[in-house]
Amino acid sequence: MEKPLKSSDNNVGAVDHGTLPIVRRKAAGFDEAVWGRVYNARRDTSRVPRAVIRASSITHAREAVELANREGCRVSVRSGGHSWAGWSVRHDAVLLDLGGLQEITYDDTSWGRMFAGGHCPDVGLGGFLLQGGMGWNCKGWGWACESIVGINVVTADARELYCSAVENADLFWAARGAGPGFPAVVTKFHLLTRPLLEMYNCIYVYPQSMYRTVLQWVIDTSPTADTDTEMVCVSRRSPDEKEIQIIAGYTTFKPSKKHAEEALQAVHDSKPPNAIVEIFCDPTTLDVEYRGQIDAQPRGFRFCSENAYIANDADVPSVLEAAFTTLPTQKAFALYFAMNPTSRRPLPDMALSMQSDHYFALYTVWDDAADDERCTAWVHDMMRKVERESVGSYLGDADFQHRTTRFWSKESGQRLMEIRKRWDPEGRICGYLDAEDKSGVDGLKNEFEWEMPDR
Ligand SMILES: Cc1cc2nc3c(=O)[nH]c(=O)nc-3n(C[C@H](O)[C@H](O)[C@H](O)COP(=O)(O)OP(=O)(O)OC[C@H]3O[C@@H](n4cnc5c(N)ncnc54)[C@H](O)[C@@H]3O)c2cc1C
Repeated sequence: MEKPLKSSDNNVGAVDHGTLPIVRRKAAGFDEAVWGRVYNARRDTSRVPRAVIRASSITHAREAVELANREGCRVSVRSGGHSWAGWSVRHDAVLLDLGGLQEITYDDTSWGRMFAGGHCPDVGLGGFLLQGGMGWNCKGWGWACESIVGINVVTADARELYCSAVENADLFWAARGAGPGFPAVVTKFHLLTRPLLEMYNCIYVYPQSMYRTVLQWVIDTSPTADTDTEMVCVSRRSPDEKEIQIIAGYTTFKPSKKHAEEALQAVHDSKPPNAIVEIFCDPTTLDVEYRGQIDAQPRGFRFCSENAYIANDADVPSVLEAAFTTLPTQKAFALYFAMNPTSRRPLPDMALSMQSDHYFALYTVWDDAADDERCTAWVHDMMRKVERESVGSYLGDADFQHRTTRFWSKESGQRLMEIRKRWDPEGRICGYLDAEDKSGVDGLKNEFEWEMPDR
């Protein structure tokens, strides 16, 4: 039985001297306020906000929206700063940085429980939950946004409201899947937690020559695998840079090692032979896993990320072969996330409406600006081929400036764009950052590139 967890605006360390903590353009510290908390070091500095508000209370958030209304400009929002494409930095907007809104309060009965957030420790709940949230064991437990029971928001016309399935229900519907096009500022999430379990890993590393066999094995074991077990297949370069390796990883959440061994045994017994490395049911913790994720995607590096849900009936190893076997840098990696059978169930009534059995994402990582063109061109080239076999994409690993695709079902996409217009008719809250930041009140077209008549 899930129990409620509440976040609060009663912030530890909040500094509010009765004035808005605002850093205007040209003021000392402005660049740091704009870019300091943006994870990706590859940045488009031609986008210059008019001011940054470092909010540490809900009052600050409301006042920031009031200020934008007075000045007739847009508001951009930042929680954790982890948007790969730097969505929070928008030209001539008031940047509302919610980094100071950090306190979490729990119901007494929630101690010793967990919330399945993002795989990196500092991914912000704001961006993560609004786009759906591919948290720990999304394959078995579903989308993180399914655990939202209510939100507090500041609307585009600066009103403070509560939204749930029965109050302002259309905004609540949109909050679970609109991503960066949500037409208000969320100041609190009311969430359900789940039991905190022990974690165990199975890891199998194979040479690149085994790519097809290993990926097909992960795909085949997915539908009947234990439902508390997350399953991935990753390709990355070996530490000596000589070759690409294919890694199958299974992370299970269980009350004890005995339960974990039982859950993982079938996978272990069916593994392809000749693994270079083979680890069965190794105890791990969220802390250890977070460190591994930070190592794979280190702060200070340049990133280009893209993704697609591959069609259920596609020959997935063929579709992904080029991407998995031609990684352009030492730290780049390609990821296959098994989603079957959770992907086959009807989703709750919410904006998030896109999924398939096969989630594929590219995380291209490099550190020299001279490699920007080569690396981004590789990602876009790979995606052009892959997306023809896809049903759409996940907002969280996407960049609308470079790629037009589907993010929702046709009906949900239309409903979402109508809700956006209803709640923010003037486009006060910056929406989707498409090419030249023009989408505004209209939002995204939710169409594949090759389906669009004007392309
Ligand atoms: C290292 C790394 C690891 C990641 N791992 C995962 C993962 O495991 N699973 C997954 O699903 N995604 C993952 N992502 C993607 C990440 O979830 C998305 O980029 C998400 O948008 C980040 O949220 P944020 O609040 O940190 O980002 P921000 O850049 O702060 O926010 C992104 C956008 O969301 C909107 N937004 C954020 N907060 C609010 C708010 N309170 N009210 C209204 N709008 C808001 C704004 O439009 C904002 O510009 C990862 C990203 C990185 C860099």
